Amino acid sequence: MQMIGVLGGMSWESSLDWYRLANERVRQELGGFHSAPILLDSLDFAEIEAMQASGDWEAAGALLAAHARGLEAAGAGLIVLCTNTMHLVADRITEAINVPFQHIADTTAEAIRSAGLTTVGLLGTAFTMEQTFYRDRLAQHGITAVIPSAEDRATVHGVIYDELVQGIVTEQSRQKYRDVIAHLVADGAEGVILGCTEIELLITQQDAPVPVFPTTALHVEAALKAAGL
Ligand code: GLU
Repeated sequence: MQMIGVLGGMSWESSLDWYRLANERVRQELGGFHSAPILLDSLDFAEIEAMQASGDWEAAGALLAAHARGLEAAGAGLIVLCTNTMHLVADRITEAINVPFQHIADTTAEAIRSAGLTTVGLLGTAFTMEQTFYRDRLAQHGITAVIPSAEDRATVHGVIYDELVQGIVTEQSRQKYRDVIAHLVADGAEGVILGCTEIELLITQQDAPVPVFPTTALHVEAALKAAGL
């Protein structure tokens, strides 16, 4: 297998899952003492969050591009970015590297298409739900993303930053997400993208009446396949 260069720490709560899922999958597939060849570059989320809050995507793109170059120089054969939101600057990363980049929205779109669906709800940070970078990428695969109402978006975004990235998982927030999912289904969603890598810590298939698409788990699968598992 090729070495997978992982840009993580955004937040580390979900990178931990990425790392665990990748290793569990390799053990399941190869058995014995096998584990996943990974170079993990875990950034300080405070620095990233400040750039998001001030809208300084230029600086964020330059920073992530520099870290991606570092992973390539250290021997990574492909690069993954373990956050949906920061794919807003995915182009800055791909321009900076000479190895493949496994785009999380492409991975998700392929899973949705394989499930035979075309219209899905999108849960994520306000950046992911409201800006066009993620929905446009899905549209390139023929997928239409429905986003929650303004009130529901504020709820979903608030739970991510106030709770999930800080390792707080509550039943109350789970119920709020279930309600948002019900509204999306009423608006025509045939499935729901858990389009923030921490949402999988809160929501599973059991919480939704339609198929859910967990971006962390799907990203792990795609990266391992691209790396040659
Ligand atoms: N991990 C989250 C995502 O997938 C949110 C944290 C971040 O802004 O990077 O979008």
